[in-house]
Amino acid sequence: MLEFSTQNITYLQGVGSKRATLLAAELGIRSVEDLLRYYPYKYVDRSRFYYLHEIDGSMPYIQVKGQILQFDLHDKGRKKRLTAIFSDGKSTIELVWFQGIKFILEKYRKGIDYVIFGKPEAFNGKYNILHPEMDLLSAMPPLEKMGLQPFYNTTDKMKREYLNSKAIQKIIFPLVQNLQSGISESLPAYILKRFALMNLTESLVNIHFPPNSQVLNKARQRLKFEELFYIQLSILRQTKWREQNFKGFIFSQIGNFFNRFYKEYLPFELTNAQKRVIREIRIDVGSGKQMNRLLQGDVGSGKTLVALMTMLLAVDNGYQAALMAPTEILANQHFISIKEFLGDIGVQVELLTGSTRPKARKSLHERLRAGTLHMLVGTHALIEDNVQFKNLGFVVIDEQHRFGVEQRSKLWKKNVQPPHILVMTATPIPRTLAMTLYGDLRVSVIDELPPGRKPIQTYHYYQNKRQSLNQFIAKQINEGRQIYMVYPLIKENEKMDLQDLENGYISICETFPSYKVSKVHGKLKAAEKNYQMQKFVSGEAQIMVATTVIEVGVNVPNASVMIIENAERFGLSQLHQLRGRVGRGADQSFCILLTGYKLATETRKRMEIMVRTNDGFEISEADLQLRGPGDLEGTTQSGMPFELKIANLAQDGKMLEIARSVAMELLDDDSKLEKAENLILLQQLNRLKTNTLNWGVIS
Ligand code: ADP
Ligand code: MG
Repeated sequence: MLEFSTQNITYLQGVGSKRATLLAAELGIRSVEDLLRYYPYKYVDRSRFYYLHEIDGSMPYIQVKGQILQFDLHDKGRKKRLTAIFSDGKSTIELVWFQGIKFILEKYRKGIDYVIFGKPEAFNGKYNILHPEMDLLSAMPPLEKMGLQPFYNTTDKMKREYLNSKAIQKIIFPLVQNLQSGISESLPAYILKRFALMNLTESLVNIHFPPNSQVLNKARQRLKFEELFYIQLSILRQTKWREQNFKGFIFSQIGNFFNRFYKEYLPFELTNAQKRVIREIRIDVGSGKQMNRLLQGDVGSGKTLVALMTMLLAVDNGYQAALMAPTEILANQHFISIKEFLGDIGVQVELLTGSTRPKARKSLHERLRAGTLHMLVGTHALIEDNVQFKNLGFVVIDEQHRFGVEQRSKLWKKNVQPPHILVMTATPIPRTLAMTLYGDLRVSVIDELPPGRKPIQTYHYYQNKRQSLNQFIAKQINEGRQIYMVYPLIKENEKMDLQDLENGYISICETFPSYKVSKVHGKLKAAEKNYQMQKFVSGEAQIMVATTVIEVGVNVPNASVMIIENAERFGLSQLHQLRGRVGRGADQSFCILLTGYKLATETRKRMEIMVRTNDGFEISEADLQLRGPGDLEGTTQSGMPFELKIANLAQDGKMLEIARSVAMELLDDDSKLEKAENLILLQQLNRLKTNTLNWGVIS
C-alpha cells in the first residue's frame, strides 16, 4: 500500500486537479508530505475575543464577537462600496467591502451574533476593518479549540485562483485531523528521547494548528532540529564516504624548496596563525586522504603566503600546483607577488588568463604536460579542458564563492586522483553558515594580522562634510599617500539620487587640478582598465575613482584612504572588503563612509558596526543577524545547496552545532548506517535526496 504521506494531493478534499497543478507549479507541493511540510510563516491568536475599545495601532489581526446594526451601500462616486456598523455591545466599528457586495448582503443579517476577524486600519481618525472574515458565532468551535491561526505564503498566481492562505489552511485542516496513523516517524527513537523532542505526527499537527505558543515552540524545535540534523548527516556522510573512497597524494617530505624558502627567502617571520594553518595543511597532505580545506582569513592576514608555502610542499614532492583566482586582476597580483617571493629559488611559475597570447599559451601547455612548469597561477582559464598537467597535486582556489560547483568539479578531473584542494576566502563566513555551506570542508582560520599593522580608522560622515573631506584628502596626498574613491554607479541615474563615478571624476579633477586621477570601472575594455590600474599602482595617479570592481585583490600598500560614496548602498561584507584595500602599508589608514542624512535603522546599524570593528568575523555575524542568511553575499551567488524551510541560520546556531555533533557521533559509531536503530536514517536520507548529495561530492 502506498504510504499516506507520499500520496498525490489531487484527491485530497478541497484540492482537485487544477489546484494540484497550481500548487506543484508555484510551490513544488505534490505529495501529502510536501503539503504538511509547507509550514505557516506566521500565526494569529484566535484563542480570545477582543473588545473594540482595546484596538490600538499596533494590532495585527483580531477577532470580535457582536452584531451588525446597519448596512449602507454607497454606489455613487467612483467605486461601489458596502459598509456596515458592527457593535460588540460596548462600541462600534465600520466594516468595509469593495468586492462580493451582493453575496454579503444576501448572506449576512442584522441582529445575529457573528464573529468577525480582520485587521483594523486607521482611516480618517477612526478604525475600520476591510473585508473581514465573518462566521456565525453558533458555528464557531469553542475558543480553546481555536488556538493560533496559521498564515501561509502564497503567490499572486495562486491568489488569483482564490488559493490564498485561508484556502491552504482549509486543505490542511482536515488532513491533520486524522494524521495519527498516516505518517511515520523520521527520527530514531533514541534521538527523540535524548533531546526530548516532540514526535513527527504531533509536530506536524501543531506546527499548523497550535493550541498555544508553548506547544508551537515544541513543534518548531523538533522540526528545526530534524531539518538541520539531516542536512548535517548528509554532508558528513558524503565527506566520510569520500574520505574512505578517494585516496590522497601523500606529500611525505618537507623538501628543499620549502626549507630554503623558509630560511633564506621569507622576508619576515610568519605569524603564529600562519604557522598553525601550514601545520594543519601539512598533516592533511601527509595523511593519505584527499584534503578539502577552507582557509578563512581576513583581508591582509597573509593567505597568499600560506598558499605559496603549501604549494611549495607539493612541488617538493614531485607534484605540480595551481592557484586559481576569480578575476584577471587578482590572478595577476598573485602571480606578481608569488614571483617576487620566490625570487631566484628556481621554481618555475607562469600565469594563464584569458589574455594570455596563443603562442605563450601553447608553450605553457607543453611545459605543463612535460612537468617542467611547477606552478600555474590563473583564472578560470586554467580549468579549461585543454589545460593538462603532468601531475597536478595541489590546487588553491582564492575567493571561493565566485566559483561555481561545476567549475570546481572540473578540477577533480585534472589528475587520475583528485588533487588536494585549499579554498581561501577573505569574506569571513559566520560559523553556522560555514558549517552548512562548507560543511564538508575542514576549516582553518588565520585570526591574526601580521605585526605592526595599524588598525584602520573608520568614520561615518554625511555628504555635507565634503569640504573638510577635501582638505583631508589634500593633506594625505601631500604626505605622499594615495586615495580610493568608490561609487555605487558609473553614470548618473535619474531614478536614483546617488553619487556617480563620472560626475565624481569631473568634480575631483576640478577640486584637485594638480593631481592625476585614474578611473576604473567594469565597463572599460581590459587594456584600458589595466592602464588605469597601472597608473595608480605605479603611483603616477594619486587618486583612483572606481566602482566596486576594486573590491577584491587590488594591492597598493601606499593607498591609505578609502572613501565610499553612498555607503548606505553597500552590504556589510562588501564595505568590509572595500575597506580591506587600505591598511596594507605601514601608515595609518582611514576609511570614510559617506551617506545621506536619512538612513533606515538597519543601514545606520551597518555604519555603526563598520565604525566599531575591523574584525571580519564579527562583521559577518552581524551581517547574518541583520539580513538573514538568504541575502548574504556569497550564498546567493553560489546558491545554498539546499533550502531551509524552518530553521534559521541566524537564530539557530546552537541547535545547528548540536545537530552536527550528533550526526558526527553517530557516523563515527556507524559510518554506513547499518545498525537497526539507524535504518530510519538511511531511509530518510534516501527520501530527502536533495542536491546536497551531488554537491558534497565535488566541492
Ligand atoms: P590576504 O590575501 O590574506 O588578504 P596577503 O596574502 O595579500 O593577504 O598579505 C597582505 C600583505 O601582508 C602582503 O603584502 C604580504 O606580503 C604581507 N604579509 C603576509 N604575511 C606576513 C607576515 N607574517 N608578516 C608581515 N607581512 C606579511
Ligand atoms: Mg588575497
